[in-house]
Amino acid sequence: MPKIENNISLVSNRVEQAARDANRDPSEVLLLAVSKTRDAADIRCAIDAGLTHFGENYVQEAVEKIALLSEELGQEKLHWHFIGPLQSNKTRVVAENFNWVHSVDRLKIAQRLSEQRPAALGPLNICLQVNIDNEASKSGFSSDETLTAALEIIKLPNLRLRGLMAIPQSQQSEEKQKIAFAALHNLRDQINQSLDNSDKLDTLSMGMSNDLEAAISQGSTMVRVGTDIFGKRAAKQS
Ligand SMILES: *Cc1c(COP(=O)(O)O)cnc(C)c1O
Repeated sequence: MPKIENNISLVSNRVEQAARDANRDPSEVLLLAVSKTRDAADIRCAIDAGLTHFGENYVQEAVEKIALLSEELGQEKLHWHFIGPLQSNKTRVVAENFNWVHSVDRLKIAQRLSEQRPAALGPLNICLQVNIDNEASKSGFSSDETLTAALEIIKLPNLRLRGLMAIPQSQQSEEKQKIAFAALHNLRDQINQSLDNSDKLDTLSMGMSNDLEAAISQGSTMVRVGTDIFGKRAAKQS
């Protein structure tokens, strides 16, 4: 079996097992393949293995791959998730090319995405990035700011606020990993208490190659996996 296909089968088994261990239905957890720095050929291998959701961090690199693969396979088949830091001068390209943005970390970014989202594409799915461990070096809303931001962003016409995303500090033990994921889950539940039924957040984007089991045990609905699908990345020069 080719390497990427084999890796996907291993990761899918981990996702399924983690869901079962948490008494959850494995279909509640979407496997998002993080394809930053990978070429279109690698993405085609993942598509052949059945994946249709891809996460990208770098706008220019991503739009080239999106254009190429949309031409080959049609617009509808693939779902593109922007998960990297987003600068305001790049919001238009993201609004025009992606189905999801997980890394909204400022109100202004959300406002621009809503203004720039082409109506024909329907609302852009959004997660708020939360700096769940309050790390100075990490972007994201603090836990305290997130509810206020959510109540503003929910009013924006061309966005659909779906949930929260976090990249916790890396932790060795699964017990320690679970603490940050549980905090994000709690924050989501708290925010939902202030939202109408039709607006309730259904998404927790949490868990990567090294901590997806802990994330799924705490309610993750999307795990973002790069290394364990495509292999180790070369360091990005930029
Ligand atoms: C790169 C990246 C991932 C994937 O991380 P791996 O450890 O390679 O699985 C997930 N989420 C975000 C936001 C990333 O930037």
